[in-house]
Amino acid sequence: MSQTTTSGGPFADLKLIDPLLRAINDQGYDKPTPIQIKAIPPVLAGRDLLAAAQTGSGKTAGFALPLLQRMNELYSGKPRPGRVRALILTPTRELAAQVEESIHACGKYLPMTSAVVFGGVGIQPQIARLKRGVDVLVATPGRLLDLHGQGVVDFADLSILVLDEADRMLDMGFIHDIRRILKVLPEDRQNLMFSATFAPEIRELAAKYLNDPQSVDVSPKFTAAETVEQRVLRVDQSRKAELLSRLASEGDWKQVLIFTRTKHGANRLARKLEGDGISSAAIHGNKSQSARTKALADFKRGAVRALVATDIAARGLDIEQLPRVVNFELPNVPEDYVHRIGRTGRAGASGKAVSLVAGDEVGLLKAIERVLRRDLDHEILPGFEPTPGEGAGKTPGGGNRGGGRNQQQRGGSRGGGGRAPGRSSGPSAGGNRSRSGGGARSSSGGSGNRSGASGSSRGYRSR
Ligand code: AMP
Repeated sequence: MSQTTTSGGPFADLKLIDPLLRAINDQGYDKPTPIQIKAIPPVLAGRDLLAAAQTGSGKTAGFALPLLQRMNELYSGKPRPGRVRALILTPTRELAAQVEESIHACGKYLPMTSAVVFGGVGIQPQIARLKRGVDVLVATPGRLLDLHGQGVVDFADLSILVLDEADRMLDMGFIHDIRRILKVLPEDRQNLMFSATFAPEIRELAAKYLNDPQSVDVSPKFTAAETVEQRVLRVDQSRKAELLSRLASEGDWKQVLIFTRTKHGANRLARKLEGDGISSAAIHGNKSQSARTKALADFKRGAVRALVATDIAARGLDIEQLPRVVNFELPNVPEDYVHRIGRTGRAGASGKAVSLVAGDEVGLLKAIERVLRRDLDHEILPGFEPTPGEGAGKTPGGGNRGGGRNQQQRGGSRGGGGRAPGRSSGPSAGGNRSRSGGGARSSSGGSGNRSGASGSSRGYRSR
């Protein structure tokens, strides 16, 4: 239980009001995280914000708390029917649901209402909810536009906009939707933009839509690199599952999040682990919302030891203090490695990250080391020595001998979700002797459908 007091504590130093301090206390937070220390004061002062922070940094409370306090100052009484006072856009339905939970938890002692809307589920309950008016609406872009098109949501009273995980929204192809939404919001509003990186497109978006923003950066790359123990095990692709199974059994791993590139790969690996006596579930864009929710719940309560996920599916999963993360395959984009290992060692706790690296992933590993600004030690475990010359130094995707059917994935996903396979940061695609199926590892692990817009079951929550 937390020792946070409602006065004089570090959160109180941030000039948060008592109902928020009480809610913070209930959540068991002792002290603000770096992003909270940096983000809360400018937001309370009414400034626009451009914040570099990723999942695991405490960014959600970093905007939820000052947003609620601002709203408490700006508004009184209930929102009018159909009106929304603050809007939070997120790339995925999971993140939307978790952000709304956080808003609810932080605002529990304030007379605020919140709701969440995302696609893939019935729209009627969402329409009914919006008709009553909402203080804080959390939404994925596609469904929000749909609702707006139907005339059931009105932004005339809106004063705060949050773009959460803006880089991911751009990656997922939401830029046009975002522009359309921004057009229908009142110009006079406070804008908060959160992004894991300040890539050029993010700066462009910020320059266009933010008004003299305060820029804050908590340098997550170095935080993750410092607090997470990172191991790199060199092993042939074809033997990764066996090695992983061995590590999990011998180490008696109780809870591990495993990243694969593809949905098929996630399913296959979960089945293999299950067959080896390690209870597992896969979570990715092809799974229904209810299946994902169940897998996550089972994992959180320890009924399932291994959760196998693609990058997109894993984004925004709120799993506290995850002890261990495994990169079954390295991601194409080095920043995703930082995201992944950021799932462990959260909020200052230490964690472990293990990467299984095949010969054809060495280029990707180098790119990751450049981002981390440090070299990682490579280990080879007895009995799992990589086949000499197996793809070492080749372009990613050039080998994948053990992957078999994975080669079907060539060309990446359709449907607008994924990154171009060519966006890897390994050696140039012209790399020598790369086998002809250059896309054997597709980017579909990071793609799938635009997960803000599909799924089933619970579509909204109203508070
Ligand atoms: P986020 O980066 O917003 O996804 O938050 C990551 C996790 O950190 C969530 O489980 C939060 O509940 C938790 N968290 C947020 N702020 C704090 C804090 N000040 N102290 C401890 N945990 C926190």
